[in-house]
Amino acid sequence: MDVREAYLKFFESKGHTPVASAPLVPDDATLLFNNAGMVPFKTIFTGEVPVPENPRATSCQTCVRAGGKHNDLENVGHTARHHTFFEMLGNFSFGDYFKEEAIAYAWEFVTEVLALPKEKLWVTVHESDDEAEAIWQKHIAADRIMRLGDKDNFWQMGDTGPCGPCSEIFIDQGAEHFNGPEDYMGGDGDRFLEIWNLVFMQYERNAKGELNPLPKPSIDTGMGLERVVAVKEGKLSNYDSSLFMPIINKVVDLIGKPYEYATGASYRVIADHIRTVLFLLAQGTNFSNEGRGYVLRRILRRAVRHGYLLGFTKPFMHEIVDTVVELMGHQYPYLSEKAPVVKEQIMLEEERFFKTIEDGIALFSEELKNTKDVFSGETAFKLYDTFGFPLDLTEDMLREKGLGLDTATFERLMTEQRERAKAAWKGSGDAHVEGDFKTLLEQFGENSFVGYGRMTGESKI
Ligand code: ATP
Ligand code: MG
Ligand code: MG
Ligand code: MG
Repeated sequence: MDVREAYLKFFESKGHTPVASAPLVPDDATLLFNNAGMVPFKTIFTGEVPVPENPRATSCQTCVRAGGKHNDLENVGHTARHHTFFEMLGNFSFGDYFKEEAIAYAWEFVTEVLALPKEKLWVTVHESDDEAEAIWQKHIAADRIMRLGDKDNFWQMGDTGPCGPCSEIFIDQGAEHFNGPEDYMGGDGDRFLEIWNLVFMQYERNAKGELNPLPKPSIDTGMGLERVVAVKEGKLSNYDSSLFMPIINKVVDLIGKPYEYATGASYRVIADHIRTVLFLLAQGTNFSNEGRGYVLRRILRRAVRHGYLLGFTKPFMHEIVDTVVELMGHQYPYLSEKAPVVKEQIMLEEERFFKTIEDGIALFSEELKNTKDVFSGETAFKLYDTFGFPLDLTEDMLREKGLGLDTATFERLMTEQRERAKAAWKGSGDAHVEGDFKTLLEQFGENSFVGYGRMTGESKI
């Protein structure tokens, strides 16, 4: 079944207007990337923009959770259900229906359209939400409804903005997947999988952290397409589904080594990250040493490091692009259009990192020999500065070894470098050159790694 289409059709039949996915880079300075289906509707929820003629909408929104309040970058490669890029299906009520209908629609979709077995479904509500619990009892046995606290059942887009208590639907993937407390709802394990979040949008949090009631209580829901597809295909991991296996198989072809789930985290990281890198580049974010472009660079470098672990010694990520375009170009035609340029961009960026990765990893391994529990902040800084290893990449490598990092020293060295950079550009007298130089220094630091090729020239201004 085509889950995306089934979802949008279902909500259209319930009077919702289908709305196209908004760009990944939101029109919102408080947010790094679009991280949920509600983001493009934020100003309608807050009342800044009038409610459209039809107060019901439905969408399939592309999302990136790599940085900011919702950051799943570190989860990729470790859990079966997280991606940095994913598609979120949602239905929205702008001051129209509220809890009663939202719950009834969700239950109908899950049990009748998706036809998931009722005996495997569980729901959670916020610990204070008697109303939601009472509504759910009309649909599901009382002992299948759990009350959880703010961590799991209070949803917010970011530190500020619309938010509210929520109610989530989980599927029990079987007692054989129960390995301990992490498998309970809200944990990181595999037994209970969260598939859908129904947010009862009632408040707006301001910059002081205070909650103010929204003009009209509204509904925002989010269901992860990849999770539902995996469940429908009977797979325990999203990565085993038809959305990811062709990408993993392409990596297998390129490296010529078989993939096994138990030892295949690197394949999964690559399969995840290529989607994110492709979508961000195709939508116009470029590799950079700051802001969103630096998140993009970190994701690419993390994937390249995993490729290196698999045995790649030269650029390979760009060769996977066509596979993703085959899978997703139909839904997102701009991918096919931009693919030739994006492949080039990825290849250049890969080349740049491949030039220093080997020496960086050698330095890292050398330092490991001197490390008991905490890895040296100086070496982490050198890895960053000379070899282009983003801090989170080093942290990722340390996590694999169960080691910590002296982040205080790393931060101090970063600050010192920034100060030196500031001091160095003072007073050259030429406003134009000074401006360029300042930007470069702020971006790259005084002696920092700036890659090879074009940028090396620029850094010598
Ligand atoms: P989790 O607890 O599994 O991290 P979440 O509670 O952070 O999920 P929500 O913010 O409630 O997720 O997002 C709504 C839905 O989007 C989730 O129920 C899930 O189906 C999907 N989803 C969230 N994060 C991801 C992700 N990183 N990758 C894939 N799907 C996701
Ligand atoms: Mg999460
Ligand atoms: Mg959750
Ligand atoms: Mg959730």
